[in-house]
Amino acid sequence: MALSEARKTPVDHKILDGRVIGEGIRAEVAREARALADAGWPPRLISIAVGDTDAAMIYIRNQQRVAEKLGIAFEQKLFPAEATRAEVLAAIAALNADPRVTGIIIQRPVPDHLLIKELQGAVHPFKDVEGMHPASIGNIVYNDLVMGPCTSVAAVEMLKHTGLRLQGLEVVVIGHSEIVGKPIAFLLMSEGATVTVCHHMTRNLQVHSRQADAVFVAVGKPGLVTGNMIKPGAAVIDIGINQIDLPDGGTRVVGDADYDSCYDVAGWITPVPGGVGPVTVSILLRNLVTAAKLQRGHYERAFRGGFTPCAPAVAPVAE
Ligand code: NAD
Repeated sequence: MALSEARKTPVDHKILDGRVIGEGIRAEVAREARALADAGWPPRLISIAVGDTDAAMIYIRNQQRVAEKLGIAFEQKLFPAEATRAEVLAAIAALNADPRVTGIIIQRPVPDHLLIKELQGAVHPFKDVEGMHPASIGNIVYNDLVMGPCTSVAAVEMLKHTGLRLQGLEVVVIGHSEIVGKPIAFLLMSEGATVTVCHHMTRNLQVHSRQADAVFVAVGKPGLVTGNMIKPGAAVIDIGINQIDLPDGGTRVVGDADYDSCYDVAGWITPVPGGVGPVTVSILLRNLVTAAKLQRGHYERAFRGGFTPCAPAVAPVAE
C-alpha cells in the first residue's frame, strides 16, 4: 500500500478530508434548499454543455448525483458541437429570464468557435453559481463574497478548517489563473492574510514557499511542491488534478504536491483525490442556495411580496 493510502484514515488530523468538510456544508445546503422549496422557491440547477462532453461528463454526473441527493433538481442541456454562438447565448438569455431556474453552469471545455468568457459573462450575476461572471469576481475584489468561484472558495474553506488565524498569516499561492489562483489570493487578502502570488515566471519558488504558514498550489504539474519546499508545520492546500501513467499501464489521479514528502513536513495537507474536489461541488450548491435567496428577494421586492415561481409546498392534511 502506498504511504499516501495508508495515511488516509479519518483519525489522521493532519489530513484535511474534503469528504468530511464537504458533508458539513451539504447538510446545511439541504436544510436551506428544503426551506426554500417549502416557500415556493425550489432551487433548480441547469447545466449547459456544448459538443463533446466526454471530458466533462464525470464532473457533470457527480454534480447531478450530489444535487439530487440534497433534493435539488438538476437538468442537463446538451448542445451539438456545431451550435452557434447566437443559439447558446439565446438559451442562456431564456434561462436568465425564467424565474423557475435558479442557477446556470457552463461546462468546460466549449468548442473553439465559442468563447467561454463570453458565455460566463452572459449568465445573470444572480444565477452565476460558478462565480465566474465578472461581477462575481469583482465582488471578491471589493471584499464582498456573494457567490465566489467554487474551487477557490473551497480551497480557502479547507484552510479555515485548520483553525489557523488568517489575519496576518503568511500565505503563498502558486498559480495565478483567473479562475483559481487569483481569486484565492483575493479571498485570502480579504481575510487579512499576507499573500504572495507565484507563477511560471517566479524566479525561485522555494524561497517564497519556505516562508509560508500555508501554501496553496494550483498549477497542473504533479510533484511540483516537495517537502523540502515547505516550512515545518505549514498547511498544504493542493488544488491540482493530474492524471499520471503508472508503470503497470494503469493511471492515477494526483495533485501538484508530492504527497508523501509534504506529509512528513506539513502540519496539514489536503489529499488528491478527496481534498478540495469534494468541497468544490458543495460550494457550488451553497452558491445555488445563495442565488435562490437573491432571486427571491429581488422578485418579492418587484412584486411587493406577491410572487412565487412554484406553488409553495403544502403540508398534507390529516384525514
Ligand atoms: P492554468 O493552466 O490556467 O494556470 C496554471 C498556473 O500555474 C499559471 O498561473 C502559471 O503561471 C502557473 N505555473 C505554471 N508552471 C509553473 C511553475 N513551474 N511554477 C509556478 N507556477 C507555475 O491552470 P488552472 O485552471 O488554474 O488549474 C490549475 C490546476 O488546478 C490544474 O491541475 C487543474 O486541473 C486544477 N483544478 C482543480 C479544480 C478543483 O476543483 N480541485 C478546479 C479547477 C482546476
